Amino acid sequence: MTVAPIDCDLHPVVPGINALLPYLDDHWRETVIRRGIEDLTTISYPTRNPLSFRQDWRDETGRTATGVDVLGRQALDPFGTQLAICNCLYGVQAQFSEDLGVAFARALNDWIAREWLDRDSRLRASIVVPMQNAELAVDEINRVASDRRFVQVLLLVGSETTLGRRQNWPIYAAAERQGLPVGVHAGSMFRNPVTPVGWPTTFIEEYVDQATAFQSQLTSLIAEGVFAKFPRLTVVLMESGVSWLPAYLWRLTKFWKGLRSEIPWVSDPPGSIIRDRVRLTLQPFDAPPDTASVTRLIDHIGSDEMLLFSTDYPHWQFEGMQPLPAGLDAELTRKIMLDNPLRTYMRLTETESVP
Ligand code: ZN
Repeated sequence: MTVAPIDCDLHPVVPGINALLPYLDDHWRETVIRRGIEDLTTISYPTRNPLSFRQDWRDETGRTATGVDVLGRQALDPFGTQLAICNCLYGVQAQFSEDLGVAFARALNDWIAREWLDRDSRLRASIVVPMQNAELAVDEINRVASDRRFVQVLLLVGSETTLGRRQNWPIYAAAERQGLPVGVHAGSMFRNPVTPVGWPTTFIEEYVDQATAFQSQLTSLIAEGVFAKFPRLTVVLMESGVSWLPAYLWRLTKFWKGLRSEIPWVSDPPGSIIRDRVRLTLQPFDAPPDTASVTRLIDHIGSDEMLLFSTDYPHWQFEGMQPLPAGLDAELTRKIMLDNPLRTYMRLTETESVP
């Protein structure tokens, strides 16, 4: 690649709960040990399925991305990546105890800072927050945000209530105040099914249907007035796929024309608000691979500023070393790989980022 890209979505993997024990306070460390809590993710996340970790990136135990050296060797060096944003997913948001959620969010953020950001200067991270409680999420944002290597607030698309609801607004206020975009990543608190019609029974349903969850959340953020209330807030959809976007923009804007009296604070067409304020990470790029189809999709999205380069490492989203769809011209390639990420994450341009 000629441009040194900024990878806006990759995933360090917690090697096991013991890795987090030094970052828990005494009470929670003792609780984990005495209760025999083995992991927060094992029930919901199938690490052995092919999509979870790409086959040629797995070690002999079947896992990968459990250390900074491996991640650098597999995900940064081959692509010439200059900066990469770590989104650590560990089931923190799925816990029913708010106190447990806070304890593990704090541990995860401190673990990321010490074990990853301190050890590779190319790495940045998103702040994991206890989505169980907006007040506690704000406390965690404010605790961590002084470390300017944290460049985003991380939410999951599968939330307890739709993200536009006013009970979530303190999170957006805190993010805006700290100059942080809010990233909404695939994944769930598992309070609701990923589909609006009931619980799926297979992982393929779970994964494919994430796209409809993203649409629902985007409509909620627009209709409830989040973008009007927080004019400097950017929302990044991560691992959402992109092929659904053109039809969705048409549908939302069409019905806004007839129903806009219901939401007078949405004074601009939703399509233009989304083009201005919403970004999407590139992988999984779920469109046909031929150049004509890719060109048509970008044309239908109606903006060349929305897509942000990502590998979604270590998920198996592309073959070989080809994370970009074929046939993009040089200017668009540069925008996706570099210019769009830099415009989205203001903290990436800061040189003195360590607190
Ligand atoms: Zn991802």
